[in-house]
Amino acid sequence: MASSDSPTRSPQLRKDVVTNRWVIFSPARAKRPTDFKFNSPANPNPNPKQECPFCIGHEHECAPEIFRLPPRGRDWKIRVIENLYPAISRGVPDDHPLVQAPDGELSAGRALDGVGFHDVVIETPVHSVQLCDLSPLEIGRVFLAYKSRIQQIASYESIKYVQVFKNHGASAGASMSHSHSQMLALPIVPPAVSARIESMKEYFNQTGKCGICEVQGEDLLVDASTHFLSVVPYAATFPFEIWIIPRDHSPHFHDIGDEKAVDLGGLLKLMLRKLSLQLDNPPFNLMIQTSPLQINASDSSHSHWFLQIVPQLTGVGGFEMGSGCYINFVFPEDAAKVLREVNVPV
Ligand code: AMP
Ligand code: ZN
Ligand code: ZN
Repeated sequence: MASSDSPTRSPQLRKDVVTNRWVIFSPARAKRPTDFKFNSPANPNPNPKQECPFCIGHEHECAPEIFRLPPRGRDWKIRVIENLYPAISRGVPDDHPLVQAPDGELSAGRALDGVGFHDVVIETPVHSVQLCDLSPLEIGRVFLAYKSRIQQIASYESIKYVQVFKNHGASAGASMSHSHSQMLALPIVPPAVSARIESMKEYFNQTGKCGICEVQGEDLLVDASTHFLSVVPYAATFPFEIWIIPRDHSPHFHDIGDEKAVDLGGLLKLMLRKLSLQLDNPPFNLMIQTSPLQINASDSSHSHWFLQIVPQLTGVGGFEMGSGCYINFVFPEDAAKVLREVNVPV
């Protein structure tokens, strides 16, 4: 950390054994971490309530509902709905998904029909309530809604991966301010997921250990709950990135039980509140990093799901696009210390 009371650190390159990505930690770009109050907060509430289709009473303005919690009655708490503007056509991809290339040739593995599921999870009926305002139990129910939907989708063999993600704030990619997340079920395993599984396999073959079970290190720890640890990863790609890791080895998020979901809700709430206090309600992305639906038994030993939170403080520039390496101006142990010390009022 570059500060008047600590020596300046030299730049360091670190490799993340989970993402297989090199990150440059550059103190020359750093200010004291406490100076990193974000200047343009997420602006979470620009729409007047009456124009929002995600609000209770506006269900008819949304694409069809898949299910709601509780299942019956008008007073819903969570709705899982179809996306009105889906990235892919809704349906079950067929088992022979090669499409015809423009020159009439079958494109050998380079194109597939864009078919799958793109859903929206409305996390609260109330427009002004954000995810971190919900109780641990309510956030736990959001996790259980993801779980139920993944379990439904997992019955289709041609769906290979379900990406659960949340965009909060316009510069994190959000177009709607009402608290929601999305689920995109794909007929492929995305490259970042295969790279993660491959990288963890290599680490397992070298060490006999799962790279996520290994993540501990007191200086990287932010907090802990009964079933989870929250850490800044050793080679965090982004400043103040946080991973919430199940203490028990488990490849799939959708195997989570009720008690663990509520416990995770509590720790996520705490992390979101810490980030909001420290960085002035920053835009952020939240991703569930899980394993492909049909993982083989040998990959299970080194595949371990986790939740990734990335506050959007810096854009991705030409260096990152060109090299695939990232520059992070906050050393992970400094970010973890700052976040540990943020006092969250009860
Ligand atoms: P984001 O852009 O991350 O805020 O996610 C909002 C998502 O909601 C987008 O993917 C939109 O396509 C989707 N969306 C917007 N309006 C509706 C609606 N009325 N019913 C269902 N989905 C919608
Ligand atoms: Zn709303
Ligand atoms: Zn593990």
